[in-house]
Amino acid sequence: MGRLTCPRTISLGAYVLGALENGERAELESHLEVCPSCRLELDRLASLPDLLSRLSADEAERLGPGRSAH
Ligand SMILES: [Zn+2]
Repeated sequence: MGRLTCPRTISLGAYVLGALENGERAELESHLEVCPSCRLELDRLASLPDLLSRLSADEAERLGPGRSAH
């Protein structure tokens, strides 16, 4: 298989959530500059929180209408 995977992609989730310590974060950031695989994964992860908040907002709206219908 020609698929390129990097073990560091595991840390990207914590990175996106801001859960990494300063040292780890700096290390990961310099790794990102040389690792296209991680950059791609980071791109995907970066859009997740936004997606999730949109989904829950949508769900909240769906749960809401029952109140206004008397
Ligand atoms: Zn990597």
